[in-house]
Amino acid sequence: PRVLGIEGTAWAASAAVFDAETDDVFIETDAYEPESGGIHPRESAEHMHDAIPAVVERALDHAHETFDGPDSEPPVDAVAFSRGPGLGPCLRTVGTAARALSQSLGVPLVGVNHMVAHLEIGRHTADFDSPVCLNASGANAHLLAYRNGRYRVLGETMDTGVGNAIDKFTRHVGWSHPGGPKVEQAAKDGEFIDLPYVVKGMDFSFSGIMSAAKQRYDDDVAVADICYSLQETIFAMLTEVSERALSLTGSDELVLGGGVGQNARLREMLAAMCDQRGADFHAPEPRFLRDNAGMIAVLGAKMYAADDTLALEDSRVDPNFRPDQVPVTWRGGSER
Ligand code: ATP
Repeated sequence: PRVLGIEGTAWAASAAVFDAETDDVFIETDAYEPESGGIHPRESAEHMHDAIPAVVERALDHAHETFDGPDSEPPVDAVAFSRGPGLGPCLRTVGTAARALSQSLGVPLVGVNHMVAHLEIGRHTADFDSPVCLNASGANAHLLAYRNGRYRVLGETMDTGVGNAIDKFTRHVGWSHPGGPKVEQAAKDGEFIDLPYVVKGMDFSFSGIMSAAKQRYDDDVAVADICYSLQETIFAMLTEVSERALSLTGSDELVLGGGVGQNARLREMLAAMCDQRGADFHAPEPRFLRDNAGMIAVLGAKMYAADDTLALEDSRVDPNFRPDQVPVTWRGGSER
């Protein structure tokens, strides 16, 4: 199938077209950039409202150009959208756009869980069977693995998401949003200082390390040293829980998802851990890691092929949509 995907959970107003036959993913994104501070939900919803029509139009233009069917038929078979988790005002704006498009094109609507999409794009691009997934995104941090028809949450942050934790520190320092790439850059000149490391089983916490990092900054510790140590400590926590998940599930495949997955040091640590235990590691290319509609279109196509579509009256969005609420309809019954 060919599917139009729409994403707008937080900052990325994004539309994409996925063609399952050619495996081509066309993505158009217009990013919201706050003038100061972090993401303001109302401002980002206004951004969705202003930016979604143009990105959808460019994606549909691409769909028309690459469609060889009759002019009377729609150039896509379904419209898939992010139902959650995310910021309520953004989700509602994008949900309305998706419903209207499904109606005007006369094709079914597919409701995609944004976190499951972060995972599935890794499985799709690696061609892995049953990986553990580390989702290291802005507002979330989870370990997921498939069992009996669902992606189970094996472990997760007990407080903020990993990207948001880093962004809180950079906001304190006065750097503009998003902070992750700036921390990565500054860390290159840093040396290690001790910061709180909190892992409990396969869960972990960032609130202690964030307070300590801000305190060190106020105490005039070099910002490069704090950035370096933040990365080493936070990513070591994520690597430890990923290894535990691989060990306990018996899986020998790890995929990375989410915007923080663009960080070279995190990828290096995960790759080294996988190498040591003989597991395969896959990090999708950056355009599929940060929020993007490509991953929504790819999972949307799998769901559409499994007849997993939504009636209009059941299509409301859910800001707290958990990955383990999703019945996994698109994987074969023989998989564990
Ligand atoms: P979610 O997917 O949970 O809704 P999100 O919408 O905030 O999260 P993502 O696009 O997955 O967004 O991730 C954005 C986060 O990634 C931001 O917090 C940003 O600071 C972080 N980030 C981006 N690049 C890097 C990097 N090179 N190193 C570390 N963090 C990064």
